[in-house]
Amino acid sequence: MDRPRVTIFDTTLRDGEQSPGCSMNVQEKLRLAQQLDRLGVDVIEAGFPIASDGDFEAVQRISASLRRPIIAGLARACKGDIDRAWEALKGAARPRIHVFLATSDIHLNYKLRISREQCLEQAREALRHAKSLCVDVEFSPEDATRTDVPFLCQVVEAVIAAGATTVNVPDTVGYTMPEEYAQLIRTLREKVAGIERVTISTHCHNDLGLAVANSLAGVQEGARQVECTINGIGERAGNASLEEIAMAIRVRRDRYPYETGIASEHIYPSSQMLAEITRVPVQPNKAITGRNAFAHEAGIHQDGMLKNPLTYEIMTPQSVGVPDSRLVLGKHSGRHALALRCEQLGHPFERRELDEVYRRFVVLADRIKKVQDSHLLELIEEVRTARKKIPPAAASIPFTRVASAASGANEARPLPFPAAVSGAPGSISFADHHSEQEDYLWGV
Ligand SMILES: [Zn+2]
Repeated sequence: MDRPRVTIFDTTLRDGEQSPGCSMNVQEKLRLAQQLDRLGVDVIEAGFPIASDGDFEAVQRISASLRRPIIAGLARACKGDIDRAWEALKGAARPRIHVFLATSDIHLNYKLRISREQCLEQAREALRHAKSLCVDVEFSPEDATRTDVPFLCQVVEAVIAAGATTVNVPDTVGYTMPEEYAQLIRTLREKVAGIERVTISTHCHNDLGLAVANSLAGVQEGARQVECTINGIGERAGNASLEEIAMAIRVRRDRYPYETGIASEHIYPSSQMLAEITRVPVQPNKAITGRNAFAHEAGIHQDGMLKNPLTYEIMTPQSVGVPDSRLVLGKHSGRHALALRCEQLGHPFERRELDEVYRRFVVLADRIKKVQDSHLLELIEEVRTARKKIPPAAASIPFTRVASAASGANEARPLPFPAAVSGAPGSISFADHHSEQEDYLWGV
């Protein structure tokens, strides 16, 4: 039963905060850090202390207030940065200095203007200095995925000898491909002396939309730390998204026999808090945390969902803290979903009445994109009023398939529709089946 633990290193407050429009003040960072603690992340990268006084203060205050997670502070590979990071971190129960230095030729030649030999020496010295202050030291060879592989191995070996405890492999520019990244991790494990003593970490950017795939490929080759952010925020196209990593590992336990410390029911609240603080909304179709991630509009999907959520849902909204699975009522919605929503609004309908509601609903949905509950209530009122003018004998077959849908709705499943949706024998007439198939036409 013992599954290897993958350390979740959250850098929402550092890499994430660097993304345009996502800056946060100290108070906001502290609030989010507390939420990350509830979420169960193992490491919180709280900031880059040399970058600004605000960053310094945030790292210091987070270090002082959270005792469970490791608190990391970022530093370039130079004494001033490392000392400043340590100054901010030293009050932490579990501090970590995270040192980085670019290793690719393009960065060495054009950004740092140093030779490979100078790079190697600087990394070694920086590590020794950081290690003299803090037991837990992480090293990142920036732009690792575009670094000459033998040179990368040389640098990694040197920093391990100098005391690094975690070696991160950043795909800084979001350039790598899953199999290529996997190969890189494999090579490091095969070629670098002492690699078995350190934790290998992934840090992938999403420029080609592969950050999560690359991170998971790294994990499969032995990386045991993943650096990621809530909602995948970060430089340019962002970082690997924490919620996607955590849920991929959980939902596909068969393929990824690992565990994380993430309390998944805190995922959605964390995502919402970040969006609220930064005022950067989550894209609607964002996996796991987007507002449409658990919404089903197409008739065939809605019908299946109501019969058994497993038809279209690989995880429950509740498992990631989403309050309810929302069936969006639009013009592609079927009768079945409409009936349930009416019932949830306190208006169970019998068959013929429902037909009338449905007819009006389709006309309305054609005009407006989404039919809100308020619209529906108005429409129900209209139908009820019109109904009073018709003799009672006209009302006949009850719509048994949805009759008891609303009760028992507080179980683990989003919309726990009775298993015996087909009801008692004979309760669905040929006409029912026919209208059900009409629903399907909307959703194909
Ligand atoms: Zn980054």
